[in-house]
Amino acid sequence: MIRIGFGYDVHRLVEGRKLIIGGVEIPFTKGLLGHSDADVLYHAIADAFLGSLALGDIGQLFPDNDERYRDIDSGLLLQEVYRRVRERGYCLNNLDAVIVAQKPKLLPYISKMRENLAVLLNTAIENISVKATTTEGLGFAGREEGIAAYAVITVKEVLENG
Ligand code: MG
Repeated sequence: MIRIGFGYDVHRLVEGRKLIIGGVEIPFTKGLLGHSDADVLYHAIADAFLGSLALGDIGQLFPDNDERYRDIDSGLLLQEVYRRVRERGYCLNNLDAVIVAQKPKLLPYISKMRENLAVLLNTAIENISVKATTTEGLGFAGREEGIAAYAVITVKEVLENG
């Protein structure tokens, strides 16, 4: 039994914040604004996991008015989401994501993001795809006002007898 999940997230780019995407701190003049560390990729992936089993969304699970989640490492949020997926008898099959950013160039950081995700989700790196694109200057991403991420995942039922 395979199920599919889709996630989308956007965070605003502002001065005075670290830029953290896929658990990687990326040197840049701006960072993403949010209640947590605003890791837009991890948020999109967490929402895709929740969607795959119709478990709601991360806004419901980790409200942004809850002080426990202020500046929290989104890797911890993703781990908690994945724990819930496992609890229901499913595990990751594969994941494909796109980060939409005009700047900075993300290619040098993609392999580290994949590695981080493979460790977090206890899977082989071949099951994790992360890509990046610009919007050729169009829209909020093109104007460098924000960064978006999309993620699609499939999860499979873990069978008791292998
Ligand atoms: Mg978010």
